Amino acid sequence: MKDPVCGMSAKKEIAYEYKDQKFCFCSELCRDEFKKFPEQYLNQRDIFIPLGEKQERKIAYFSMEVGIESHIPTYSGGLGVLAGDTIRSCADLKVPMVVVTLLYEKGYFYQKLDTLGNQKEMPVQWYPEDFITPLTNRVSVRIENRTVFIRALQYEVIGITGHRVPVIFLDTNLEENSEYDRGLNDYLYGGDLKYRFAQEIILGIGGLRMLHDLGHSKIRKYHMNEGHASLLTLELLRMRRTEDETIWKFDEVRNLCVFTTHTPVPAGHDQFSYDLVKGVLGDYMPFDIMKMLGGEERLNLTLLALNLSKYINGVAKKHGEVSKSMFPGYSIDSITNGVHSNTWTCDSFKELYSKYISGWRNDSFSLRYALSIPKIEIWQAHMKAKKILIDYINKEANAGFHYDVFTIGFARRATLYKRADMIFSDVNRLKTISQEVGNIQFVFAGKAHPQDLPGKELIKRIFSSIRQLKGQVKIIYLENYDIDMGKMLTSGVDLWLNTPQRPNEASGTSGMKAAHNGVPSFSVLDGWWVEGHIEGRTGWSLA
Ligand SMILES: *Cc1c(COP(=O)(O)O)cnc(C)c1O
Repeated sequence: MKDPVCGMSAKKEIAYEYKDQKFCFCSELCRDEFKKFPEQYLNQRDIFIPLGEKQERKIAYFSMEVGIESHIPTYSGGLGVLAGDTIRSCADLKVPMVVVTLLYEKGYFYQKLDTLGNQKEMPVQWYPEDFITPLTNRVSVRIENRTVFIRALQYEVIGITGHRVPVIFLDTNLEENSEYDRGLNDYLYGGDLKYRFAQEIILGIGGLRMLHDLGHSKIRKYHMNEGHASLLTLELLRMRRTEDETIWKFDEVRNLCVFTTHTPVPAGHDQFSYDLVKGVLGDYMPFDIMKMLGGEERLNLTLLALNLSKYINGVAKKHGEVSKSMFPGYSIDSITNGVHSNTWTCDSFKELYSKYISGWRNDSFSLRYALSIPKIEIWQAHMKAKKILIDYINKEANAGFHYDVFTIGFARRATLYKRADMIFSDVNRLKTISQEVGNIQFVFAGKAHPQDLPGKELIKRIFSSIRQLKGQVKIIYLENYDIDMGKMLTSGVDLWLNTPQRPNEASGTSGMKAAHNGVPSFSVLDGWWVEGHIEGRTGWSLA
């Protein structure tokens, strides 16, 4: 049963009779609202957009991180790279879209590792304005009762069709702002909870205001790539409330919002105590409304997005199921992540596809004809990519890697559930395999979040295995994993390894990059691999 005010699940015991009909509500709050404006709430409808206008209207895509290219270091991992690939695909497909994200002037971080594998984080040195054009528009938000001014910089992603998708980077580093506020978007995922909440205000609330200021007023859908941006739902509600002082237009806002959830564990969802929320947001919005939408105990940004989105999806079939059981009562679909083929295919395979599959860039589906490419040519293209990787490894790390040795790759965020060290759980067996079955060499890469101490320990454990296996199995850990390195690794190794703890891998995409380059995966059946794996054909599964 749906609450006629907020559209969320209603409770039988909170009821009210109106014109001989019984209505039920989620809370006293909605019942009281209904009593005030019964007709208006019963008349809530989908907002009407004339058909012709729909094509003109844009999708506004909000993401805390966007990974477009290596030298714009405003991403940390899969979430950002997915956003980048989505943007590139939309540009190719001429989808009218505008993207909103934050500019991180110090990036995520630049990773250095000492000989024991201790990670040192350094600010990324880069000059945003070398790549991204500053605009003169200014908007502001209130943070802890201060006015914080925001500027925008714009980057354009140009598709193969010539279609352009603007990416708006928000930035508070302005003279008008206090020292603290100028640093609010220095680091991606840096700082404490208050810092994070302030960033989410800049993204969700500031982002919406900036879109208006830039003239992107005809928005058909607001797409939240993960819950970080979900404060935009509150801003949409508030804007409508100010325009017309009667009802809260929950339904209207819901019709405008789409939410993609990426996190299969409850602890991964951003939550803030209401003390913190009050301290930072002040009297932005009545707290009872916020609590109704975002949770009684704490403001949970995922819950907020779930409650105010018309369409919700997980990022792989399995993750859709996991999300449904995590959030009972919500209708959650799944759309399996993908990668942008033209970006993640290495040069030698691009050449091969162009020779055998005309138009593969415009039609990823046609890549299934890769099955008919002669195997010898696949092998030659692979060895070209492998040579590039091995040359790089030997130059960077003086590692003495050999072109003809079977090379296993593993690169991803160094966090516990990814279990990068699993392959070393029986070092002696690995030695025996390498001596008796055939030589193996390993290449690793990945950053640990600065506050993820177990993730940092994980890197150190790999370094300790490297020492244990010295002289027996060559293993190298490359520093500062990024998009370019990801491309070189997923095309240059012979096998792409993945050993996540189920069901933590919501999708994973690096294995898809490997597949584009003829590299099979060996992976735990989780995330996308449940769908992508054909035993002995596309790779192998690990139980
Ligand atoms: C593709 C990519 C990822 C995501 O890959 P996963 O398989 O989800 O770990 C993360 N970081 C970089 C730099 C990438 O290129």
